[in-house]
Amino acid sequence: MAIGHLNWDQLLCHAKSLSEHGGLSVPTNATRIEDLPISGPEEILRITKAIANTNGAILNSSGGTTGKPKLAYTPFHQAMGRLLQQWKPLGPGSVLLNLFNPGRLWGAHYFIQTLCEKSKAISVPAGPFTPEEVSAWIETFDEIGINALAGAPTGLADFAQGLMDAKGKLAINTIIWMAEPWTESKFKAVRSAFPNAGFWCDYGSVETNSIAVNGPECDRDTYHLLPDQLIEPNDHGALLTRIGDGWTVPLIRYRLGDKIEKSHCRCGRSDALIIEGRADDSVSLLSALISTGQVIRLAEQVPGVEEVQLLLTRSKKETAIREASVFTITFTGAAEPQQVSKQILNGIHNLASVVHQYPNSFLVKRVQKLQRVTRTNKVPAVIWRE
Ligand SMILES: [Zn+2]
Repeated sequence: MAIGHLNWDQLLCHAKSLSEHGGLSVPTNATRIEDLPISGPEEILRITKAIANTNGAILNSSGGTTGKPKLAYTPFHQAMGRLLQQWKPLGPGSVLLNLFNPGRLWGAHYFIQTLCEKSKAISVPAGPFTPEEVSAWIETFDEIGINALAGAPTGLADFAQGLMDAKGKLAINTIIWMAEPWTESKFKAVRSAFPNAGFWCDYGSVETNSIAVNGPECDRDTYHLLPDQLIEPNDHGALLTRIGDGWTVPLIRYRLGDKIEKSHCRCGRSDALIIEGRADDSVSLLSALISTGQVIRLAEQVPGVEEVQLLLTRSKKETAIREASVFTITFTGAAEPQQVSKQILNGIHNLASVVHQYPNSFLVKRVQKLQRVTRTNKVPAVIWRE
């Protein structure tokens, strides 16, 4: 069932206008949204680049840990006019420590900068801290009156840990998080360091910018779709359509990388949704097709497991589907690797048969620290290695 509602006549008019500016053409007999073609990053790039040549833009990039970065031209306004009508984590008097990495074409730091500007807040563009670095800064942050933080859960948890290790305190009332999901241990660290903070999230992607938001009154991982948009849930990745002005990019049935489902939120507001995980998470291990998301979810269920990361050794063979020769599950926490291994193999039978035949294709290791992406300081769930 679709999330959100759009008027068909307005949508058709929007799709036709877009097709004249680099979008996909509209079939003459189209009478409903399912009749419109599905668009991808090529159309977005073509349309936004043409606009950027006239109005200027910030060039952002999304990209996994390997491969060529995917570029997106984002207008400087970053759709703040629309966003701030629905979502106002900051205002005059807010003093925000921006923990997102600047540079390397990652947009999050600059998004927060613009959010501060449009909210008439004070921005403190710090970038991330290791826990060890925090103690040297506490006095300064206290003097400045920092009362809001913005970062990815990994960076927020590092900062919280550093503050608690130094037995410092900051009167934080607002935490803006984006860009990766919480793990329970990171959330616990941030919650204990800042017990009075409200949590705010803006869900989107590099190409689309803001899609849905939540606030302190909401369930932590449930979001509300911003108005003038429609999401069609789909196993191959949800389709996003939006109409009207003021967005960073116009979209007709753009395929997102996430699986999205309709949901309910404790706040009672409509158009609630949850992210079910990545859509394209299947990998072939010695010819058995395995959902990496399922492997990770099973490992996370083992008591004592804090955070899980799957390392995939790329198979030398060139195939259409992504093929790995070894699955290495790494995790932090106190659990025993054998327990984790047992839980995964009991839960995924075709993986168990591969491992029975090729025992060296599946390894489980407990580690002190999971790998991070230098550019974003995030902990990706899956890392490919040669
Ligand atoms: Zn809510």
